[in-house]
Amino acid sequence: MHGKEAAIAPHFARIGITVERAAIDTDRFGTFSGEIARMGTMADAARSKARAAAEVTGLPVGLASEGAYGPHPVIPFLPIGQELLLWLDTETGHEIIETMTDERPSYDQQIVTSPKDAVAFLARTGFPAQAVIVQSVQAMAPVAKGITDPATFDKAVAQALAQSGQAHLQIDMRAHMNPRRMAVIGELAGRLAARLNTPCPACAAPGFGRLRTVAGLICRDCETETGLIAADVHGCTACRHEVVLPRAGFADPAHCPSCNP
Ligand SMILES: [Zn+2]
Ligand SMILES: [Zn+2]
Repeated sequence: MHGKEAAIAPHFARIGITVERAAIDTDRFGTFSGEIARMGTMADAARSKARAAAEVTGLPVGLASEGAYGPHPVIPFLPIGQELLLWLDTETGHEIIETMTDERPSYDQQIVTSPKDAVAFLARTGFPAQAVIVQSVQAMAPVAKGITDPATFDKAVAQALAQSGQAHLQIDMRAHMNPRRMAVIGELAGRLAARLNTPCPACAAPGFGRLRTVAGLICRDCETETGLIAADVHGCTACRHEVVLPRAGFADPAHCPSCNP
């Protein structure tokens, strides 16, 4: 629905895979502006979309993207984004997931009580290349989504203020309305394509790559295990073959629960 194939298809074309857009209403799997809550994890939502895409197109493989944005877990006043791309071979059940973190996403929101504060919000968003959403604080449904011109914005803010005295302003996170998000999805697609081009050393299935990380990097001063990443686990989701790749170096004592409790 949101034109992501423009960012994804070129990467897949390079490895000889043609991406066809599936005509399905993906809003039923959840929306960013909250009208429909997402069920389950990001991977669950992407898997449902990929399966639906395979059904609609009649193709054996479904590809779906899912994003989640919110406060940074360590620095709550900074936003952080997670993007996920899922490849599902519906004939074998073979699933390959590639994820990416965006430390500088175009993601922001504010509740304002005056048109002046609303305009101040716009000034820091990258508007109009970056679209915004205006919601009344009472109503769940937005007054207007995908706003990219000042007149529509002013009108929507006035309407929300008239309804509840407050307007909830948000960055529109839909990919076609959020150039930063579209670029990140493109980069992620490049990684997934490269991964699909990497055969498993044990069974030759496509998609050998990083599955997870393992914490426990050793402190440089006292050799205690820290919460930092000690190794990456690469593997094959077809045959379960895995390789553990330890990371070089030691943890700074600042991250050590023993040296710096
Ligand atoms: Zn394998
Ligand atoms: Zn230590």
